[in-house]
Amino acid sequence: MKKTIYFVAGSQGLYGKETLERVDKDSAEIASFLSGGIAAAEIKYYGVATDSGQILKMAREANFDGDCIGVIVWCHTFSPAKMWIKGLKTLQKPMLHLHTQYNEKLPYDTIDMDFMNLNQAAHGDREFGFICARLGLNNAVVTGYYRHKRVVGEIARWAGAAAAYDYSFNLKVARFGDNMREVAVTEGNKVSAQIQFGWEVNTYGTGALVEEIAKVTDNDAECLLKEYSRLYTFKTGDTAAVAEQAKYEIAMKRFFAERGVGAFTNTFEDLYGMKQLPGLATQRLMAEGIGFGAEGDWKTACLGAVMMKMAEGVGRCAESGGTGKAAGATGFMEDYTYDLTEGGELVLGAHMLEVPLAFAATKPAVEVHPLGIGGKEPPARLVFDGVCGKGIAVSLVDMGGRFKLSAANIELVPQPKAMPRLPVARVMWKILPDHASGVSRWIREGGAHHTVVSTALSAADMKTLADLWKIDCIVIG
Ligand code: MN
Repeated sequence: MKKTIYFVAGSQGLYGKETLERVDKDSAEIASFLSGGIAAAEIKYYGVATDSGQILKMAREANFDGDCIGVIVWCHTFSPAKMWIKGLKTLQKPMLHLHTQYNEKLPYDTIDMDFMNLNQAAHGDREFGFICARLGLNNAVVTGYYRHKRVVGEIARWAGAAAAYDYSFNLKVARFGDNMREVAVTEGNKVSAQIQFGWEVNTYGTGALVEEIAKVTDNDAECLLKEYSRLYTFKTGDTAAVAEQAKYEIAMKRFFAERGVGAFTNTFEDLYGMKQLPGLATQRLMAEGIGFGAEGDWKTACLGAVMMKMAEGVGRCAESGGTGKAAGATGFMEDYTYDLTEGGELVLGAHMLEVPLAFAATKPAVEVHPLGIGGKEPPARLVFDGVCGKGIAVSLVDMGGRFKLSAANIELVPQPKAMPRLPVARVMWKILPDHASGVSRWIREGGAHHTVVSTALSAADMKTLADLWKIDCIVIG
């Protein structure tokens, strides 16, 4: 079911019936226009608010409405802002203040005082903005004529963040095994995370997954293997190893569906009863929007799931020339190793196995190689070269008492040379503004080695989401 965003016009009783009817008509028209341009939600025109009781009622309805992911407020006329205090203090949904006008241009030849009184958002919205600032709301503000592409685009991206925020507060992550022993950055306070982000972070014994894997029939695995051979090039004769991953994929999908889980973690240190570390299976689950963090990294798993949801929502509707989905890839990554050629420094991003399929620029190859750690059988994985383009690398860390988001602007580039002996998928990028200052800043801010990389989202999108979550977000480059 499509989510909704309420559109509320602020006014007051002072102007009389005729003016308020006009405010109502114009506002409904703006809401309807915007609804045609925004992919994440339908804009539902709520009405004109003229006193504190109506505003409180709106806030309560928005809070109670499970489909409502946010509220857009615009003051066509002057709306004395003390009447907004009660409602804004009650409102628990994200709010965007749209600072626009019904008319684009001034009617120089005909402008009179009636026109001035009807079209006074320029000062009405300042009064509204003051009370938002006074209440410390830190809400989004979009300024400009509502039919301009840039304005619709900014609202669409905020709507995507609001949808991601809504999703965040319904997200469950399954942890198979604890965090990798001795690792610091993947740790974090789970209660704090649930308060701040809504994430339900719970653990399951690896044995519970092993039981689910045992229930997968050979026939089910065979069917999935056929799908693999249609989609990928096989560079292995060890189909038994690949079939094992097919079983993991089927089992995890069932396990998550039964429990409403949208993200997961595992660790090579706790695969009790499993033959391989899930590689190919994890890569394919990420392609379906399931968040993943390796070595028990539940923060990155959840961040990935939320960012994939946001990437789905920040686009504009087809009616206004968009696809409804931001083009690009989003998923789990690790800063693995560097090319430190002076002036041409590059990061090689990958992981032991679990590189998201979304980043594949070449037809993935199914390969089976030993892992070197974990003491299990050689796992099957999908190997490919990565996509190019502008992007961001984002990490979420727990600084003790507060969470911090770091977003680095990066540019994904073609890999300079083939790497025939590297048995994992890989992506290469430049960190901006330059390697030395970008990476030094990242390290001084405590940014993690696990990230979510996205070519669909921008650092500004992450800032919007961080504001909704009420956490700090530092931007690099
Ligand atoms: Mn790792």
